[in-house]
Amino acid sequence: MPRPIAARIDGGALRHNYLLARNQARRGEGRARAWAVVKANAYGHGLLRAARALADVADGFALLDLEEAVRLRDAGIRQPILLLEGFFEAADLAVCAAHDLTLVVHRLEQLQMLRRASLPVRLPIFLKLNSGMNRLGLTAAELPAVRRELAASPAVSAVTLMTHFAEADGDGGEACITWQLERFAGMLADWPEAATWPVSLANSAAILRYPQTARDWVRPGIMLYGGSPFADQDAASLGLKPVMTLHSRILAVQEIAVGERVGYGGTFVARRPTRVGVVACGYADGYPRHAPGGTPIVVAGQATTTLGRVSMDMLACDLTDLPAAGVNSPVVLWGEGLAADAVAAAAGTISYELFCALARRVPVVEV
Ligand SMILES: *Cc1c(COP(=O)(O)O)cnc(C)c1O
Repeated sequence: MPRPIAARIDGGALRHNYLLARNQARRGEGRARAWAVVKANAYGHGLLRAARALADVADGFALLDLEEAVRLRDAGIRQPILLLEGFFEAADLAVCAAHDLTLVVHRLEQLQMLRRASLPVRLPIFLKLNSGMNRLGLTAAELPAVRRELAASPAVSAVTLMTHFAEADGDGGEACITWQLERFAGMLADWPEAATWPVSLANSAAILRYPQTARDWVRPGIMLYGGSPFADQDAASLGLKPVMTLHSRILAVQEIAVGERVGYGGTFVARRPTRVGVVACGYADGYPRHAPGGTPIVVAGQATTTLGRVSMDMLACDLTDLPAAGVNSPVVLWGEGLAADAVAAAAGTISYELFCALARRVPVVEV
């Protein structure tokens, strides 16, 4: 018998969330297309699994690794594939050309490498401008050189302009977005050709809250997987469905007296006679070790909380008020019936990190 833990991945929910993202981006007259962001192994959901679930509907797939892009092409994906950080060295370019990839260009040197590579085909690029996040992107000072390079380059088939928001998910979102949009427009002010190019701005948070950012291509990530990008709004109220459900079973029950402690460090001390359920799930499965006692968990369909520290292969939960629960009762760690965002918030992180951390040893069941 394998351990009872598994992750259920719901391809129908993934499709639902993708279509919701694109419909949001098309409010009003919009014609926006949507990259399905499948970086980081589709946020832990499995790259090829996610691509298969979205193959009929997605306008394109966006990710980071060249090797992952090639795997998508080998699996028969025909849509555009966007490399979100572009290529890393000139040697990558022949592979990019052979697989018809779309490249983010965020440094001037990338354009120079592209020109010198003398590729047999021209490639579409997404020219990434740094509008204030100060992570990736070209600055205003670099744009004159970029324009000269583009004018001289036979390597580029089409340009889309792109930037990324630093705070679309936060309290100061509106002001920050307005400021970044102004900087973005300002950088392009005396570049008439650029005014004719398509634009890609929005991540999940911007798609959901700032329809003015939809433009030509949006880039939903976390919302595809049923996570809310917002601390103050849950995924269900946004119409999103959970895609990953991490579930397991109770493998032992301990009845402890007042004053008894639970787990490493004895951080939980019973203040009442307590029925402790031991769950086959620990940090080596990807459950966050820093989730404190009191983190929500669902046992036999009922909400309760964890007790004490998370161990490598197990964690404890409170069954005192769940008399019908016992050995073999089903447990949901997050997903259907328990929002990953709620677990993440209790653990001081975000659902992105929970999903990405799902361990390889956890078997995946597709539904
Ligand atoms: C990861 C990423 C996204 C998706 O962001 P979410 O917050 O998950 O929607 C969009 N654009 C870029 C450039 C990214 O790196």
